[in-house]
Amino acid sequence: MRNRKAALSAIAAAASLALTLSACGQDSDGGSEDTKGDAKGSTVGIAMPTKSSERWIADGANVEKNLKAAGYKTKLAYGEDDPDTQVSQIENMITQGVSALIIAAIDNKSLDNVLQQAKDAKIPVISYDRLILNSPNVDYYASFDNEKVGELQGTQIVEKLGLKDGSKKGPFNVELFAGSNDDNNTQYFFNGAMKVLQPYIDKKQLVVKSGQTKLTQVTTLRWDGGTAQKRMEELLTAAYRKGKVDAVLSPYDGISIGILSALKSDDYGSKSKPMPVVTGQDAEVASLKSIKAGEQTATVFKDTRELAKVAANMVDSVLNDKKPEINDTKSYDNGSKVVPAYLLTPVSVDKTNYQKVVIDSGYVKAGAVN
Ligand code: BGC
Repeated sequence: MRNRKAALSAIAAAASLALTLSACGQDSDGGSEDTKGDAKGSTVGIAMPTKSSERWIADGANVEKNLKAAGYKTKLAYGEDDPDTQVSQIENMITQGVSALIIAAIDNKSLDNVLQQAKDAKIPVISYDRLILNSPNVDYYASFDNEKVGELQGTQIVEKLGLKDGSKKGPFNVELFAGSNDDNNTQYFFNGAMKVLQPYIDKKQLVVKSGQTKLTQVTTLRWDGGTAQKRMEELLTAAYRKGKVDAVLSPYDGISIGILSALKSDDYGSKSKPMPVVTGQDAEVASLKSIKAGEQTATVFKDTRELAKVAANMVDSVLNDKKPEINDTKSYDNGSKVVPAYLLTPVSVDKTNYQKVVIDSGYVKAGAVN
């Protein structure tokens, strides 16, 4: 028996060696044997937008973890939401001779020159989470289905108000918030949400009392919660002296927390003025606590651990002359080219499932939300 097992495993080993050899054979005509040797151990530059939000801190750490596990060194920099800082960080990485770049842009239109420098130095570029626009020098895009994120947020509103199942007819008052106008994701989130909300607005079951329904009227520069709080205060003063707001479309948890502060200062959350439906994104701890406390209604969970894996694998493939795995070749035109992408699936989260989706999966530590 033992001998038979040994014989079988010898056959398996020989087969796998043959496979490896034939794979090497295929690779080697592109000179990849050399590249391979060089690539492993080389340094990959990672440019992240800000440390002011939990998700980006986790993104940076997870991308590093995956690259290190695959044998690379890393150089991670945070641009603190300042486009010029990010450009000079990337320039430094290029000067220091990184082998590849993973970039989550602050301003998607500010990177054209620096990406040309990367191209001239033959450094491949992965656009991380946010698509970099107007540059042919973006090799791949790793992100989530961003329109779907917006659809989930819109659906949270029509479901919680009882419009979707027809149990309530409205009219309900809703106000709209969008993300930063220099982030390509912003329009995808907003358009996805409006796809769901617009039919109800058309039927007057949803009313935007402020009249601010265009994307250009509702963006929030750099996704800043304080900016959103201020706008919500202004909306409440200008449009809700009479009547109350029943739902607020918020694209991101940090913005939701700002909106909720404005609402609380105006006595929302009391018996006479129930808290409106407030959406969000990223499943940040403060928002999970708020959901648990019955304030924020919902968020959208995006497993950024998976995104980090996808991006690290893309780098590893490109540096080893292999085609990265992609699942979308048409959705993301950056103005210069359609960037081949791998898109992950976002998940709608509220108080009924946050434990299972966000905590049991280990994304957020159990104790953090108590
Ligand atoms: C990301 C969101 C995030 C937002 C603010 C977007 O580009 O896709 O997950 O909430 O930036 O940081």
